[in-house]
This record gives sequence, structure tokens and C-alpha cells, in this order.
Amino acid sequence: MSHRPDYVPDGTTGEGAIAKEGYFEREKKKTDVGKKLHQLIQADEQKKINKHGEGVCYGCMRKDYIISSLFYCCSRCMEKRGTEALYTIVYHKPSEEICDFCGKWQKPFDTYQINASLCTQHCWPKMERFHREYREAGGKSQNPLEKKHRRKYGKDYKILRTSGARPAGI
Ligand SMILES: [Zn+2]
Ligand SMILES: [Zn+2]
Repeated sequence: MSHRPDYVPDGTTGEGAIAKEGYFEREKKKTDVGKKLHQLIQADEQKKINKHGEGVCYGCMRKDYIISSLFYCCSRCMEKRGTEALYTIVYHKPSEEICDFCGKWQKPFDTYQINASLCTQHCWPKMERFHREYREAGGKSQNPLEKKHRRKYGKDYKILRTSGARPAGI
């Protein structure tokens, strides 16, 4: 399925895990941003990830085996968690987004896309369940503002969302 020569589809155990880990490490070092990010993280004693993938979990703040990824996090959840396990803020979202940590839809400019790690024991499986439920519930179509527009403008709501025209009153 994959065109990547060194990608191992089932990289969760044994040799597969080692090959997968190596693949991500190499990919990271190919870009300037990746290199800088890697140096920045490894230079910090709290955020450092050793080759076994151990670090502080952004979900429960315990030190455990972790996986890093991108998440959406609202400003309130970020305040609660502090910066100890936060690697970097990638993007300040200008539109509505659901927070991956509290599961609530937030207003424009209330969520950030962040790079953080979750423990493989508790928080990562929990996040996977959350994303599955989100997709099954209709994903982005559950955006409360979109729902409101759909109710109010029927099939024309998409034109309103994408043309930049804002009818009075919203
Ligand atoms: Zn955790
Ligand atoms: Zn939140």
C-alpha cells in the first residue's frame, strides 16, 4: 500500500517498531524546521525524548512511553497544562475548532494546533477513541456555527461559508 521503501505498516512491535522509529527520526532531520524543532526539544531536559520514546505526557503529565503528534487544544486546557510537556504551538486557529482535550467546540481564535506527546498507556488510546467518535458523529459537520447556518440558510449555507460574504446578523 505504501510507496515509502522503509515504512513498516505494522510498526507497533519488535523490529517493526524500531524501523518505524528510525524512519520518523530520519524524516524529521530532512527539513530545516524539523532539524530546529528536534534540537530545541532535545536541548530541554523536561521535553527530551530518548530513543525508547520516553517523555512527559501532555494528557496526564506522567512520565511514560509517549507518541508525539499534532492536536487541537483550547486556551483553557493549555492554561491548565502549562508548558512542561508542550513542544510548540504550530497554529492559532482563526475559525471554530473542537478541542481534542475537553471535547468542546471553541470559538474562532480559541484553539491552537500544538505539537505534544501522549502516553501510549492511557491518553493516546483515549485520543484515538475520541477521534473515532468525532468522525462517526459527522466530524466537521457538527460545527455548531455550520449547523446554525444550515438551519437558517438551507442548501445555500456552503456558498455563504466559502464566498466570504457575511449576511447581516451573524
Ligand atoms: Zn497520559
Ligand atoms: Zn479544551
